[in-house]
Amino acid sequence: MSGEIREYSMYIDGAFVEAVSGERAKSIGPADQETLATFPRGGKEDVDLAVAAARKAFEDSDWGHVRNSVERGRLLREIGKRLRDDLDRLAEIEALDTGKTITETSLIDVHQAADTFEYFADLATQLNGEVLAVPADALDLALREPLGVCGAIAAWNFPLMFASWKIAPALAAGNTTVFKPAELTSMSALELAKICDAVGLPAGVVNVVTGPGSAVGQALAEHPDVAKLSFTGSTEVGRRILQAAGGNLKKTTLELGGKSPNIVFPDADLSRAVSGALTAIFFNAGECCIAGSRLLLHADIYGAFVEQLVERARKIKVGHPLDWDSRMGPLVTPAHREQVLSYVRWAKENGLKLLCGGEAPKDPALARGNYLEPTIFAADSNAVKLAQEEIFGPVLTVLKFTEEEEAVRLANDTIYGLAGAVWTQDIKRAFRVAKRIKAGQVWINQYMLVSPFAPHGGFKQSGYGKDLSKYSLEEYTQVKNVYVDLSGDEFLSLYE
Ligand code: NAD
Repeated sequence: MSGEIREYSMYIDGAFVEAVSGERAKSIGPADQETLATFPRGGKEDVDLAVAAARKAFEDSDWGHVRNSVERGRLLREIGKRLRDDLDRLAEIEALDTGKTITETSLIDVHQAADTFEYFADLATQLNGEVLAVPADALDLALREPLGVCGAIAAWNFPLMFASWKIAPALAAGNTTVFKPAELTSMSALELAKICDAVGLPAGVVNVVTGPGSAVGQALAEHPDVAKLSFTGSTEVGRRILQAAGGNLKKTTLELGGKSPNIVFPDADLSRAVSGALTAIFFNAGECCIAGSRLLLHADIYGAFVEQLVERARKIKVGHPLDWDSRMGPLVTPAHREQVLSYVRWAKENGLKLLCGGEAPKDPALARGNYLEPTIFAADSNAVKLAQEEIFGPVLTVLKFTEEEEAVRLANDTIYGLAGAVWTQDIKRAFRVAKRIKAGQVWINQYMLVSPFAPHGGFKQSGYGKDLSKYSLEEYTQVKNVYVDLSGDEFLSLYE
């Protein structure tokens, strides 16, 4: 798509439309600051229209009715197929818009979005309630019912994946949706809207409203006709979402920030653990909520591990997102790189030991992009800012421990609880430590594996509720109890 500026519309009530205000916004490529696309800059009026369309689709059609679950599954599967059919083009759009490498978007993002639609296509027909144990002359049913209009607001770092994580389970459960992508990376959600339209989803079942969080996001979070809000973003905005959603007591799920610990014991397969540690922090240039941004190394292997880690980090090719050899692309905006660099400056000024990186790459071909070298600092204390705050960039803090107890204490010494990992060959220690890490997702001898079948979501200030898996489907339903008298006996009453 070199040089071409795409013109997108929003998707409301089965039509591709402009914002009511007529305003448009730009998507700027992080590799060169060129305009990639323009799209409508929506506001409250557009949210009102989208929610009204979603409500009408929910109330006036049999979309959510159980007899339609096979049809809903068929449509979700078809969306998955079309995502795969268009993989090359979508992977390129996603790479250019976010700064991810084409290798990542081709091998992971688009496939995972398709997998997610296919996974929930299968679950659409499996959303069963229960018959509860009651006396023989009665029946008691626990029915799972859809909620209605489900709003979703997403962060900019995995745009297509987040759209699929939020839209697929909502539809599988029979709801209708209004999705708001991040204004920095709206292109792939608008591409997905075209696919939803092309497969023949009824008008209003999926709506995509683009625009700023303070207008579109806020209006969606406040809207009295939105029954549920699923939010992925920062802990700070998550708090605001919760307040806005309080008006009509919306059901909310919050997928927020993290500062995840990655613990390596001396008996781990060190080469594999180094690969895991590099992936944990440098995948997607560290712009990952689940980034393993705190590496906890046992003192016995600290020196050897750090040596391998730094040697391999220095070899990571930082380059243009569309270069198949690039392993780390640019950060999302110049302002975000500046923010990440402010942590680097702080660390240098406060005596942390810089092991590698810390600057923009010297290559003149990368001068216009928001690139940053893979950066590793050694710290003596977990209490420092670098080990406590989410940086959301390619900056790793390495810490040393000697006892298992100490590793667990350091791992949990954070306001966050999104993810974590433990590397060891000792199965008892692996499970012992995994159970004690206070986080929603823990890997053993693995890092970063996120899959439609695995529940994703945090503890503590990383939020609550789950994306993905059968657990997320529960977030998109409510349980109704129906008691049926089968006896025909006289009603047992306290009143004459
Ligand atoms: P952000 O909180 O700034 O924005 C997230 C979304 O909220 C965007 O769509 C934005 O437009 C919208 N928004 C902003 N202000 C709003 C308001 N007042 N009302 C309603 N909506 C509003 O986050 P970001 O910078 O896009 O993403 C980075 C953050 O997201 C990091 O903290 C990261 O850890 C987190 N994140 C979490 C997960 C997870 O699954 N837990 C995944 C990815 C990113």
